[in-house]
Amino acid sequence: MGEGRAPGAGGAKTSAGQAAGMPVVSSESVLALKRRARRINRALAEKYPYAHAELDFRNPFELLVATVLSAQTTDVTVNQVTRVLFDRYPDARSLAEADPADLEVILKPTGFFRAKSRNVIALCTRLVDDYNGVVPGRLEDLVTLPGVGRKTANVVLGNGFGIPGISVDTHFARLANRFGWTQSDDPVRIEQDVAELFDRKDWTMLSHRVIFHGRRVCHARKPACGACPVATWCPSFGLGETDPAKAAKLLKYELAPGSEALLDQLLAETHRAAEIRMASQQRTP
Ligand code: SF4
Repeated sequence: MGEGRAPGAGGAKTSAGQAAGMPVVSSESVLALKRRARRINRALAEKYPYAHAELDFRNPFELLVATVLSAQTTDVTVNQVTRVLFDRYPDARSLAEADPADLEVILKPTGFFRAKSRNVIALCTRLVDDYNGVVPGRLEDLVTLPGVGRKTANVVLGNGFGIPGISVDTHFARLANRFGWTQSDDPVRIEQDVAELFDRKDWTMLSHRVIFHGRRVCHARKPACGACPVATWCPSFGLGETDPAKAAKLLKYELAPGSEALLDQLLAETHRAAEIRMASQQRTP
């Protein structure tokens, strides 16, 4: 629902907000904002049932290192690099003692590889010294680790430990403003504002869906408003291309024109995974 259609909700925008490309919904009650935000989340869940953390990992340690490496590069590149990295250095202890020159060669494709090598060694040294090589499962501990901010900590908590967290990256910050969920550019404030609108249990998946949407549809420069599944509830509709056919050409990844087979495959895998989950739940006494 909502694709290629003019918006039907969202409240009034101030001209100042529009001028900055960051609309402010001025006449919306808190309750209406909450309802609209949750409607957007449901629509995103329908559109991206396969949304997930795009970094590959087998445990919180791998996720933590992969997230630190993901700064200024793509998740695809990080996944290629971490395959080699964890083969050679499978845990914090081995990475803490790694030869920096060897590490730099492995991390080179991710960019800023000298700084990242230093950071990863410092991070793993702290893990070994203060946490016996084990990644702590608390936000207040995680943010004290070298190179780990709230965004990384929330990614690790949400996906590595199953503790709900809102991960505010550049996509999340942009979309939260466009949706009128916040009027701040400060990641901590954005996290607080959005947390008020949703149940805690929804925070991690909400983060994945919003980031997926930002990467595929609601781009920084050319949002594809005319092909957007949440256009009906978005006060920023019209910021980008509104013509459905032209907007469809702006879509990326599995939604891009000509990628129908990939989308079908993702949806089929998602349904299959849901069936397996349901069958195993039914078997559990
Ligand atoms: S693509 Fe347009 S309508 Fe969709 S969320 Fe972004 S700004 Fe709103």
